[in-house]
Amino acid sequence: MHMDLSPADLAFRAEVRAFLDEKFTPDLRAAAQRQAGVFAEADLARRWQSLLHERGWAAPAWPAQYGGAGFTAVQRYIFESELAEAGAPALPAMGLQLCGPVLMGHGTAEQKAFFLPRILSGEHYWCQGYSEPGSGSDLASLQCRAVRDGDDYVINGTKIWTTHAHHANWMFLLVRTATEGKPQAGITFLLLDMATPGLTVQPIITISGEHEVNQCFFDNVRTPVSLRVGEENKGWTVAKYLLEFERGGGSFAARLKGAMRQVRTIAQAEGIWDDADFRRKAADLEVQISAVDITERRVVSAASTGASVGDATASMLKLKGTETMQKVTELAVEALGVYAMPDQRPALGLGSNAAAIGADHAATPMARYLNTRASTIYGGSSEVQRNILGRAALGL
Ligand SMILES: Cc1cc2nc3c(=O)[nH]c(=O)nc-3n(C[C@H](O)[C@H](O)[C@H](O)COP(=O)(O)OP(=O)(O)OC[C@H]3O[C@@H](n4cnc5c(N)ncnc54)[C@H](O)[C@@H]3O)c2cc1C
Repeated sequence: MHMDLSPADLAFRAEVRAFLDEKFTPDLRAAAQRQAGVFAEADLARRWQSLLHERGWAAPAWPAQYGGAGFTAVQRYIFESELAEAGAPALPAMGLQLCGPVLMGHGTAEQKAFFLPRILSGEHYWCQGYSEPGSGSDLASLQCRAVRDGDDYVINGTKIWTTHAHHANWMFLLVRTATEGKPQAGITFLLLDMATPGLTVQPIITISGEHEVNQCFFDNVRTPVSLRVGEENKGWTVAKYLLEFERGGGSFAARLKGAMRQVRTIAQAEGIWDDADFRRKAADLEVQISAVDITERRVVSAASTGASVGDATASMLKLKGTETMQKVTELAVEALGVYAMPDQRPALGLGSNAAAIGADHAATPMARYLNTRASTIYGGSSEVQRNILGRAALGL
């Protein structure tokens, strides 16, 4: 396994840093620092994506033939680490990381030609309609129904926890098109224009007080058969392909290091950094972050030589990355002390000109702590990841 960067990789890293110095301007940095959600707010995400798109770097994981950056595995690791360490806005995953690769793998030529450039440019903003009340981990039990009527499917039912559905102009969704046989056998993958009549998006306000997720209701919503991805009743194959990207992607270590740096800054400013018990907790987390970092480098090293590290590794990283981030955000709240108690929401978000209560660094830790609770639920809960790891360890 090679962990050292080659001269060419170091030159690439310098190129990424130069890009960040030039394009990640002070106003964008200030806006990114006030973000507490899973993904950056839509307007900030669009601004940042357009800058990346101009440079040809909007999709680091896409092959060049589809307009992606065409990076090697090591370049992608460097790129994502540098952006995460700089605190760049987290672009929503639904278009670039989920729908795009699915269309490349399973879409028709027309679907690829129409959608991929628009995902890259940010013109199309996607949301993911998978979960339903009662169908999350057990996704194959989903009930939202689509019935064929001429050249359309007619959709009735509901989807829940749909992240950024209120910003999205497109949704990819799983619907039930047959009830015979195994539940997985009657599912179809569809694309839907969010402006279609009969679709209602209702906000769900989460524990941090932010509006990120929604419940969507479908009342005779029509979408053309030409917007089906894969064959009718074969949507489970497409969905499983997508879940590989949902669970696999990410650069946890770089984000963890950035969050840990923030803990240190806050702890020093609040005078708790020299407390022995606090330092012990910080050191313990540093060790765990190193373990995540080395595992990610192992994945990159294997990918760059074409070797496989095994299916369980994505689950291990998702589990360890999210659980460690929860502990880091908890330590940030501890460092902040009493300033974690007031409602800091007026100081959060793009365009806010309200001051934080306390120092500037007091604005985000509590909201990030609360938002991060969800990370061990979405993208496959920790229990589900442990099942995958258990089965792999037992060779089942
Ligand atoms: C902030 C947030 C954003 C989300 N965004 C989206 C989105 O954009 N699109 C979308 O489609 N969905 C989204 N989701 C939904 C998410 O995918 C589901 O919440 C998740 O799959 C869990 O499903 P559930 O909520 O129905 O819980 P359940 O599946 O009912 O799980 C309840 C509990 O049981 C445990 N459990 C379930 N099955 C097992 C098992 N086999 N073994 C052991 N324990 C088990 C779980 O770990 C959990 O603790 C989002 C969720 C959140 C919280």
